[in-house]
Amino acid sequence: MLFPCPFCGPRDETEFHYVGEPKARPAPAEAAGEAEWAGYLYVNANPKGPAREIWLHLTCLEMFAMTRDTATNAVLGSESPRRAP
Ligand SMILES: [Zn+2]
Repeated sequence: MLFPCPFCGPRDETEFHYVGEPKARPAPAEAAGEAEWAGYLYVNANPKGPAREIWLHLTCLEMFAMTRDTATNAVLGSESPRRAP
């Protein structure tokens, strides 16, 4: 299976590492409570179907967002997180 790195183009899936779901980081530790940080670190939506995920390309060491159907494993697209909405 080929994954599309937005910087290098299509590459073998073995060159990639799953980072996680894109999430908004809580406020600094003093302002956010333990429950908010626990939710950020350990709770994932884990949807079935199209999902936006953050991946690391181990060859160029760039992180990017990839949209993948978690039910079929079909890759629907990839983009640099800097350009993401
Ligand atoms: Zn790359």
